Amino acid sequence: MAEFAALAEQRNIQLQQINEVDVAMIRCDVQRTHQVVANILGNAIKFTAQGSPVLMRLCTGDSGYRLDVVDQGPGIPPDELDSIFERFTQSTKTRTGAGGTGLGLPISKEIMRLQQGRVTARNNDGGGACFSIDFARS
Ligand code: ADP
Repeated sequence: MAEFAALAEQRNIQLQQINEVDVAMIRCDVQRTHQVVANILGNAIKFTAQGSPVLMRLCTGDSGYRLDVVDQGPGIPPDELDSIFERFTQSTKTRTGAGGTGLGLPISKEIMRLQQGRVTARNNDGGGACFSIDFARS
């Protein structure tokens, strides 16, 4: 979050953090996992509406710890929630002018798969997207 503070401030976005667990022991490749979190948090800041918050929530998921990144951006069309994880694919909602390569999510998905975890996307009830990074129980 500290790494993204300047970018968030530029866009008048408040980075919020909720820890639902006091201590989370996660066995992972720190460098690669950092790449995953940075990609997903970077996307949230890029796509969320200017002036709205982005929330990072660490909680317990089905298979271990989970990190949710919640934004208030345009969300993702329901039939594209899987395809955005394919190489060079951008959603029909953000395709115009958002920039980017369409590679961050497929790389993130593969990194988490190799660590027996996963990355998934869904839409929040009140709008915006929520990306969940699930870590395997260590
Ligand atoms: P890039 O962001 O470089 O285009 P990614 O693979 O990281 O590549 O993301 C692929 C696409 O998924 C994005 O172009 C965008 O269409 C969609 N996407 C990713 N994160 C979000 C988000 N938080 N809100 C809405 N759409 C998103």
